[in-house]
Amino acid sequence: MYSSLRLTFCSENKNYGKNNRIMEKKITVALAGNPNSGKTTIFNMLTGARQHVGNYPGVTVEKKEGLCKYKGYEITVVDLPGTYSLSAYSIEELVARNFIIDEHPDVVVDIIDASNIERNLYLATQLIEMNVPLVLAFNMSDIAERRGLRFDIEQLSMLLEAPIVSTVGNKGKGKVELLDVVVETDQEGKIERTHKVSYGEEIEAELARIEELVAGKERLLSEKYGSRWLAVKLLEQDSDVTVNVHSQEVLDVVAASSKHLKTIFGEEPEIIIADRRYGFISGACEESVKSSVELRHTSSDVVDKVILNRVLGLPIFLLLMYLVFKLTFWVGDPLMGWTEGFFNWAADTVAGFWPVGAESALKSLLVDGIIGGVGGVLVFLPNILLLFLAIAILEDSGYMARAAFIMDRIMHKIGLHGKSFIPMLIGFGCSIPAIMATRVLENRRSRLTTIMVIPLMSCGARLPIYALIIPAFFARQWHGFILWLIYMIGIALAIICAKLLRATLFKGETTPFVMELPPYRIPTVKGTFIHMWERAWLYMKKAGTIILAISIVLWAATSYPKPGEESLAGLDKEQLQEAELTHSVAGRVGKVLEPAIRPLGFDWRIGTALIGALGAKEVFVAQMGIVYSLGEIDEGSEALRAKLQAEYSPLVGFCIMLFTLISAPCIATLAICRRETGSWGWALLQFFGLTLLAYVITLIVFQLGSLFIG
Ligand code: GDP
Ligand code: MG
Repeated sequence: MYSSLRLTFCSENKNYGKNNRIMEKKITVALAGNPNSGKTTIFNMLTGARQHVGNYPGVTVEKKEGLCKYKGYEITVVDLPGTYSLSAYSIEELVARNFIIDEHPDVVVDIIDASNIERNLYLATQLIEMNVPLVLAFNMSDIAERRGLRFDIEQLSMLLEAPIVSTVGNKGKGKVELLDVVVETDQEGKIERTHKVSYGEEIEAELARIEELVAGKERLLSEKYGSRWLAVKLLEQDSDVTVNVHSQEVLDVVAASSKHLKTIFGEEPEIIIADRRYGFISGACEESVKSSVELRHTSSDVVDKVILNRVLGLPIFLLLMYLVFKLTFWVGDPLMGWTEGFFNWAADTVAGFWPVGAESALKSLLVDGIIGGVGGVLVFLPNILLLFLAIAILEDSGYMARAAFIMDRIMHKIGLHGKSFIPMLIGFGCSIPAIMATRVLENRRSRLTTIMVIPLMSCGARLPIYALIIPAFFARQWHGFILWLIYMIGIALAIICAKLLRATLFKGETTPFVMELPPYRIPTVKGTFIHMWERAWLYMKKAGTIILAISIVLWAATSYPKPGEESLAGLDKEQLQEAELTHSVAGRVGKVLEPAIRPLGFDWRIGTALIGALGAKEVFVAQMGIVYSLGEIDEGSEALRAKLQAEYSPLVGFCIMLFTLISAPCIATLAICRRETGSWGWALLQFFGLTLLAYVITLIVFQLGSLFIG
């Protein structure tokens, strides 16, 4: 009885198109589905190159539309945002839902990841409830087959009251079958479904009461939404629907029903309703899905017993993270020596084109500006590659999903989801891929909160600053501790800020959500390297574009304008360079800034370097080198430390690290923040908010520190 997946649910009426060539019929088809179910892939399969990308009105959610001609139909295909549900928890869900309600697509195709059917069907139950003309595309059927899943398509289709088509989006399989069924479904038009999810005696009784009432009191709304759907949403306390209800009587009845159900179940009706939907799915699947490989899952289960253990889980996780950082630096440091050597060699070679002692603006630009600036950043590439490699392995093996699971309980305390933890972890490498990784978060408020605090995870670019400062001011046995302390301060601030943001700007509940645990897999070499490379490439692009540009600008700002010859007469080399710097744009800006940063213990020299750090944090080090007349950083790092030690106290050193840790993230991060949040507002809030925070905290630390130390 269990049909193989290759057998698709086909149209019986293949000749339909012949009779209809004369006139094209225009219909709209909306593609709904969970994120990563292959919606966009199917969209591309159907529409090819005939696409148009815009935004949904009023929100920054991308709207993709495309055209598809088939058997006399001109089909407009719309790729809805990926959602797990159709509640009002996130903008994506609202956009998808409103599109279906307001635009009345002729057919909705729910793209279902067939390898993960139970979870994916949750959205389907809600589409069924909305009574839309629905087609279920069981995509990823190749993966489902490999996992040994067998579907009784006919029976499932009967239970869910919607036709089912198996597809393999990335291979283009099932296109014709899907289009046939879509056309057929359009012809059938609206059907009244009989099964639907039953919510059990008590809830059904309340629903019936509410349904009857809204049909009379809220005529417009129940016409628009359908009275059953409206009743369910009201019981679920759906904010978007509730605000549109004007009748106080309806609201009172809903409140009374809610209260009544709460006393019966001891839970919000919303939760019971979600439970019942899962129960419905689970029941349907029990009857019509068979798995021939249960073994694989059980071996994963055994490993999970240890890894997800309440007592052992966290220590195992911390140990793994420790190993990742250890690997990054142990293996990375010698490699870093080589890249550093390479850039020194490059600088020497380029300098060699000019006769010894000759000064030229071009030479200075190439050697100090470009090679010094970009090289100073690329030196850290080996560490970054290793960190990304380790993260890619953990991700591809399935461990990261467990890490999120372990952290979920802790993250919930600060109002975030366990899934926010992975982007934050990536933030230790670089904020840019970290902010991009927040795309896995389906709730926009959680996502914005996570994006806002990610820069507090001390990124790789801050490391050179710590590496310069710590040995200059602190005794050897304290090095590790101070570094640890800085990282911990970042994490602690991130937690506090996240909690504050969730309590104010991004107030709202965390999305109820089933945490998925994919089976463990041995990561493939190719897959791991692709993932590592994607992130590393971003880092290198940053070095090649933004940092290159900033290096040139900073070089010019510290070199020009030159003071007049006469004023320099009689100065020795060091005084000469100091005079030149004071005269330059950077020096002047530093002097202007000095009164503002004095209370933090910083002088104008540090001020100029801090401005450089705005461009990219690592520029701070290069800039201090230039400010202290030590041109190249490589031979200078010991000499530079000696200078710093002579000029500043350890407290100032600590304050520099604190300020660069907390203050405005680099320009590239802001640009990504703008792109991912869709508005300059959030990027600017991040910029000014963090800088203000840095200022206040550094001020307090410096002032209190000065009191106690002297
Ligand atoms: P969306 O988030 O729903 O838009 O998902 P995408 O269309 O971006 O697809 C996510 C990933 O799944 C992509 O890497 C696709 O190439 C892949 N994919 C899509 N359909 C299938 C399928 O049927 N089988 C397999 N194995 N992979 C698929
Ligand atoms: Mg997509």
